[in-house]
Amino acid sequence: MFLSCAQKKSSESFTAMNTFMTVSVYASSSKKGDDVCRQIQSRVEELEQILSTTLPSSDVYFINQNSKLPSSIKSELGSLLDFCGQMYEKTDGAFNPSLYPVIKEWGFTTGEYKVPSDDVIQKLLLNIDFSKLKGLESGADIPSGMEIDFGAVGKGYAADEALLILQENGIKSALLDFGGNIQAVGKKPEGSLWKVGIKNPWDGQVACALSVESKAVVTSGGYERFFEKDGERYIHIFDPATGHPSQSDLESVTIVCESGKYADALSTALFVMGKDKAVAWWKNQMAEKALPAFDFILITKGGELIYSAGLSGFIEPIYQFDSIKIVSLN
Ligand code: AMP
Ligand code: MG
Repeated sequence: MFLSCAQKKSSESFTAMNTFMTVSVYASSSKKGDDVCRQIQSRVEELEQILSTTLPSSDVYFINQNSKLPSSIKSELGSLLDFCGQMYEKTDGAFNPSLYPVIKEWGFTTGEYKVPSDDVIQKLLLNIDFSKLKGLESGADIPSGMEIDFGAVGKGYAADEALLILQENGIKSALLDFGGNIQAVGKKPEGSLWKVGIKNPWDGQVACALSVESKAVVTSGGYERFFEKDGERYIHIFDPATGHPSQSDLESVTIVCESGKYADALSTALFVMGKDKAVAWWKNQMAEKALPAFDFILITKGGELIYSAGLSGFIEPIYQFDSIKIVSLN
């Protein structure tokens, strides 16, 4: 549909969930657009109050401190626990929101980075079976030593919630940037596709441009947060199988699909899987139609660009990649 040029742009930036967020909305009036931006900001702040690992009043903080679920589970928490349980299962544990104690031990929560001993890591790995949370009722105990962290999915979930607000308000064109998690709503007001830049992991410039309509575009990259010690780089994305920062052959994974929470969870999971497993896993899931359809862009440490065929014609490489490969289902 072609929107009239009378659409007014409203924009709001704020910090929430530890990131800088910008919401741009095109509405029939500035008043309407400003109001929608404010509603989205409030909703994100409300979600942060539930999901934060550090706010003492949050539900996640309560769970982690008391090793039990709250006596009344808010719908947001319940739906995220269910969704994460599903993704944990489907990704064979590559996506695991119960790595928090491991991530803390490496210093990623405080910035006091260190490489823990094998003994310590092995002990912490005894408590990361996220499937143990499945079907637990409100107030139920969770395994002792387990702590959860929705850092790999929260922003995507928040974008889905923001999308609902946009829909309720009849907004047909908007762009949400939740700390690099992009949710493009509809097309640009004048009818063209939204153009989203995928970061070059090596120099922070744009590696490729992607044109989208009504899609979440979410990237997980080792370059986003890491520390270096003795010439080794330790990134913030962890391999649950080892309790160490992922050493996958990927620099970044971008997922493109309708839902922010899927895109967010999957970008983290495919990063951990590494190139070959991620591609094989995608083929399997798409063939079985076990998950909503999604596309991917992998940038490998070896300088390759690999993307799924659904993005052909919508992706424009800007960086001189050593090779470009398009993966189709058959
Ligand atoms: P993202 O940027 O969405 O890939 O999320 C990365 C964040 O999720 C990290 O900073 C950790 O807090 C957490 N995390 C790290 N590794 C994993 C994992 N394998 N599964 C789930 N969450 C993770
Ligand atoms: Mg993620």
